[in-house]
Amino acid sequence: ERNLAADWDVSRNTMVRALTELEDEGLIYSKVGSGRYVQSLPPVEVLAPFDWKDRLRQETSPPSNFAELVRLSGSNSKINFAFGEGGRHTLVTSNFAEQVKVQDLLAHANAHYLTPICGHPELREWIVDIMGMEQVTSPDQVVVTSGSQEALCLTTSILAEPGDAVAVEMPAFFGALHMFQAMGLRIIPIPMDADGMRVDVLEGVLARSRPRFIYTIPTFHNPTGYTLSMERRLKLLQLSERYNIPIVEDDAYRHLHFEEEPPPSLKSLDQHGNVIYINTFSKTLSPGLRLGWVTASRPFLQQIARRKELMVTTNTLAQQMLLTFAKQGDWHAHLEKVRRQYYSQAMLMGEYLHQLRSAGLSYTGIRGGFYYWVALPEHKKPGEIFREAIAHGVLLATGDMFLTREADQPYIRLCFSHEPVDQIGTGMRILSAILQD
Ligand code: PMP
Repeated sequence: ERNLAADWDVSRNTMVRALTELEDEGLIYSKVGSGRYVQSLPPVEVLAPFDWKDRLRQETSPPSNFAELVRLSGSNSKINFAFGEGGRHTLVTSNFAEQVKVQDLLAHANAHYLTPICGHPELREWIVDIMGMEQVTSPDQVVVTSGSQEALCLTTSILAEPGDAVAVEMPAFFGALHMFQAMGLRIIPIPMDADGMRVDVLEGVLARSRPRFIYTIPTFHNPTGYTLSMERRLKLLQLSERYNIPIVEDDAYRHLHFEEEPPPSLKSLDQHGNVIYINTFSKTLSPGLRLGWVTASRPFLQQIARRKELMVTTNTLAQQMLLTFAKQGDWHAHLEKVRRQYYSQAMLMGEYLHQLRSAGLSYTGIRGGFYYWVALPEHKKPGEIFREAIAHGVLLATGDMFLTREADQPYIRLCFSHEPVDQIGTGMRILSAILQD
């Protein structure tokens, strides 16, 4: 201090004050008996002030009517044709409850610890079994996720960044549509017909716009119920290989066919590792379990695992429950029961819709899945029907929830999985009166 003060020709007091100030600001520190040292700090980038509360005000706009449906679907007093959930009735018909005893589960030490990031090894083995695909033979080709929505979210974050384009068949599952929009992706809509995605249109899009991936529900599509024909499946795989653009196959409804089995999944036809396959137990067991899975090439799954690590693992108790059911139960018999149940619900709703054709309404016959995609006569306004139905105790989804822009024709989507047959009858009588009005 004395030397510096003399060198710089300032008083010693000034020197001491300056050093104290520097120390207070954390720019220097002193070591007893040794002296003062300059703190090594990372260079500080000077940025404009930022109001973190502003971020909270930036909303990603949810599809119209969605928030209202979420609010109302909590009340059991409404007949719910809006949400694609099984669960309540599926689990009641199954013998899940008899087989999965909570006390036994909790007594099991494993139920209390985290499972490996990619899921319970035995559960992954079982998933490989039930998939029955030549391409998927080992548990390390499967990662268990918190529902297929998590699988889709992780997959999207690997394949695309904000501003990138994604090719999506339109209309689209709103959970995916909303997620892509919230992640800042540009959606390139690919039209559909009764044979599924128009792959002829897709080809031009792939050549021109190079989307980062193609998202599709090729089997019993949500919301249309359409299934991609075998010919188009092969063409889609060819295009994916030719343009080096991966396909994300969302196969939530595959097992819910009414009669014959649907065509093979894209994944099982894929010779080049271009398909990322996601599926869920939400439709065959319960959405509340939050269990799904993803199957893809090993390098891709490593990326999934890395991202999943950041959120720890999938719910251990839910995995234990499913594993218990898997070990004791007969999965195929369970599926058979669930299919029969959904079939009777679908047929009943279909009968009412059939009668409504005289009121100008049209829909495509379905062979599986959860939904009727119903085209209304042009003068009908889905928003008005939505509100009138709510006023009479029925929830439904309007077509705009599944579209990026208004369709030429008004649509509603009716889901038959949620309600048992007696409620479907009551709900459809209410809806018929509204639609015939
Ligand atoms: N994919 C499709 C096609 C769906 O219809 C749904 C549910 N409506 C999901 C994924 C979401 O399933 P999960 O509950 O497994 O997240």
